[in-house]
Amino acid sequence: MVLKERFVLPLAKKWIAGADLKSALEDAEKANSRGAGVVVNFLGEEITDPGMADDSMAEYLRLQQALYDKGIKGYASVKLTQLGLGADGEGMRNRLEKIATNADRLSQSLWIDMEGSAFTEKTVAAYLDVHRAHPDVGVALQAYARRSESDLDSILKEGGKVRLVKGAYKESPGFVYPTKAEVSKNFERLMVSLFERGGGFAIATHDHALVDRAKSLAADSHADFHFELLKGIRDDLKAELVEGGFKVYEYLPYGDSWWAYSKRRINEHPSNIWLLLRSFI
Ligand SMILES: Cc1cc2nc3c(=O)[nH]c(=O)nc-3n(C[C@H](O)[C@H](O)[C@H](O)COP(=O)(O)OP(=O)(O)OC[C@H]3O[C@@H](n4cnc5c(N)ncnc54)[C@H](O)[C@@H]3O)c2cc1C
Repeated sequence: MVLKERFVLPLAKKWIAGADLKSALEDAEKANSRGAGVVVNFLGEEITDPGMADDSMAEYLRLQQALYDKGIKGYASVKLTQLGLGADGEGMRNRLEKIATNADRLSQSLWIDMEGSAFTEKTVAAYLDVHRAHPDVGVALQAYARRSESDLDSILKEGGKVRLVKGAYKESPGFVYPTKAEVSKNFERLMVSLFERGGGFAIATHDHALVDRAKSLAADSHADFHFELLKGIRDDLKAELVEGGFKVYEYLPYGDSWWAYSKRRINEHPSNIWLLLRSFI
């Protein structure tokens, strides 16, 4: 842990607002002043202790209220395993219900992140359930997952909202398309469906070719959508999109549990491994 904090934390800081809610709110205000909204995530996942899952819920309620009180354009994005999915299914649904009810009360959207394949089925089911009572809740779908086409269809039939991402977890070839080219092709296919049939959706990628494709689909469509990009990645692209008149949201994580999130960011881009190695020299 000491090694991680000494060598990885300085690198991780570029993707994470800080350890506490105050740092997230400061970053959120800066993003708003640059013309972008924010999607704020309290870091944490795979929580099995019901008391800790209750604490995560309480933090989300605080976060939503703070965004409202400060007049910040933004909303929360939650991982269902930090609310107890996997250990305490009924408890997780009650916690999610409270966060979704709070979002409605404050006129905020709420998003659900998509995690590893062990949780996909339960996440989609919980999403469809919560969305029936709270239409402004959306869920992430991963273009690398073979099942996402059918999940997208089920969600769009119910009028649901989707954040389209490539997918960030290590998965078996049975679950995912194995090559980058196939993942991008599937991303494009799902994105076309979103522009044809979706509303309030998010195109969440830093891939210039896919962003350009989204822009050209947008030119022929009246679909209500926005771009979402991660804190610390492709700030030039965020500025270019804001400048071009597109709605842009920055995904801002905060909290102490930064390791699992940072590992995914390091793995997805080789230059980060290089930056990490350089910090050891
Ligand atoms: C707003 C948002 C929410 C997300 N939510 C989820 C989720 O719920 N579930 C999930 O599985 N995944 C999620 N992801 C992560 C996503 O699945 C990808 O792993 C991640 O976005 C990288 O893929 P890419 O589409 O940007 O394309 P890539 O081809 O990986 O990257 C395109 C370009 O972006 C830049 N880039 C991308 N990643 C990095 C990085 N880590 N460091 C430095 N430069 C980088 C590089 O310039 C790269 O060439 C989310 C991503 C975003 C933007």
